[in-house]
Amino acid sequence: MLAILITLTAGASAIGWILSQSWRDRRRRNKIRAKPFPKEWRTILKKRMPYFRSLPSDLQLQLKKHIQVFLAEKQFVGCDGLEIDDEIRVTIAAQACLLLLNRQTDYYPNLRQILVYPSAFIVRQQQRDANGLEWHSQRLLAGESWGQGKVVLSWQNTLDDAADPADGRNVVIHEFAHQLDQEAGDANGAPRLGEFNAYPVWSQVLGQEFAKLQAQAASGEPSLFSYYGATNPAEFFAVISEVFFEQPQQMKADYPELYQELSRFYRLDPLNWQ
Ligand SMILES: [Zn+2]
Repeated sequence: MLAILITLTAGASAIGWILSQSWRDRRRRNKIRAKPFPKEWRTILKKRMPYFRSLPSDLQLQLKKHIQVFLAEKQFVGCDGLEIDDEIRVTIAAQACLLLLNRQTDYYPNLRQILVYPSAFIVRQQQRDANGLEWHSQRLLAGESWGQGKVVLSWQNTLDDAADPADGRNVVIHEFAHQLDQEAGDANGAPRLGEFNAYPVWSQVLGQEFAKLQAQAASGEPSLFSYYGATNPAEFFAVISEVFFEQPQQMKADYPELYQELSRFYRLDPLNWQ
């Protein structure tokens, strides 16, 4: 399995939705949403995103409007010779915008570019420890989320993950969950919850299940969640977000409190989509 790495960079905290969405932004976005959704894009959704068919019609409509705004605002860059076309743009935007449904959103305000490689890509890193010892490493990645403006994705992994909406693995959901987390500062598994009094329960429920996954990963005991989620709280939030959207039935049965926290955060109940 490919590792999905989160690169933590110190980034400026995003300001709140109400403050950051100017009247001009809202008017511009309303104009974009009012345009008809291109027929070709609808064909791509049907072909590449099995999720779309299972969404209730009001959420399908919301998703299409979000896709229109997302594609008008974000720049896609093809890497290693990949040519960006509407199939790539719409397939990625649709999955990224799943995480915005029913929520007040400023459309990933820190994000400017989505870099897309044809397949898994190699990231070389140079690190130095406290003693000044320097070493180099390289990792093969399916996706990466930066705190300052970028998400990097493998198109092949994006396609494979979109094609199977029930295996609990989805690199686009994973990386954009990091983006939501990073809106509140460095990724730490505590995205903006909206209400101040929601944090204690969130912290208690996620902290407890994170510790459980760490113990399972250490002992080799099977879990619904990938052991990669035991890396740190930020990865835990991204991994459980994948499962929340892709395996809601199992998650609600095995982790009812965790499911409830994510359902409250995402303002969705994907169980109704099955
Ligand atoms: Zn990650």
